[in-house]
Amino acid sequence: MNTLNSLCLFCGASPGADPAYRDAAASFGTTLAHRNIRLIYGGGSVGLMGVAADACLAAGGEVVGVIPRMLVEKEVGHAGVTQMHVVETMHERKALMTELSDGFIALPGGFGTLDELFESLTWQQLAYHTKPIGLLNVNGFFDALIAFLDHARDERFLRDLHRESLQVDTDLSVLIDKLRRAEAPDTGKWLDRTKQDKVI
Ligand code: AMP
Repeated sequence: MNTLNSLCLFCGASPGADPAYRDAAASFGTTLAHRNIRLIYGGGSVGLMGVAADACLAAGGEVVGVIPRMLVEKEVGHAGVTQMHVVETMHERKALMTELSDGFIALPGGFGTLDELFESLTWQQLAYHTKPIGLLNVNGFFDALIAFLDHARDERFLRDLHRESLQVDTDLSVLIDKLRRAEAPDTGKWLDRTKQDKVI
């Protein structure tokens, strides 16, 4: 069982079109506060990021932001978080978010969210970390992405064990339970085999 004292949230710096996305972000923040799980996120005050941070703080939760200086200067940083780390680059930000978190969950978002999600999956695949990763599929937002990942697996660009290491659910409590129970893929074996045979 994985201990989840902190969870990293990847989500849109925009609110999205459907109010369900905002509701899911708010309920994410509240749920983490109620479960005493620290929220680690990109430190923004805008979009779903701001909604989740505000809801977590309002419910008495702990919120830690990690933001590049450039975004603070543009005044999109959240002024009320429990702790804010200001870093110099986006690379440093992702590395620190990874270090501070026991697991990762992505909610709907755009390029930034997908970049963070796929970097955490890539790093897990290469055993830079062994932390669980989940996708909260709010109103089917990620259906097309999930279908694409299945296609990449069917076309043998993704191994089953790596495809399956992404936990998916429509219900946050179920998703958190899946993250607690998830085992990191046995990447050592995969890396050894990759040396011998590049074709998967
Ligand atoms: P996107 O999905 O393109 O809206 O980008 C959101 C993700 O990228 C978040 O999880 C943040 O870590 C990062 N990000 C993008 N824009 C901002 C912003 N204005 N303020 C803080 N973080 C941002």
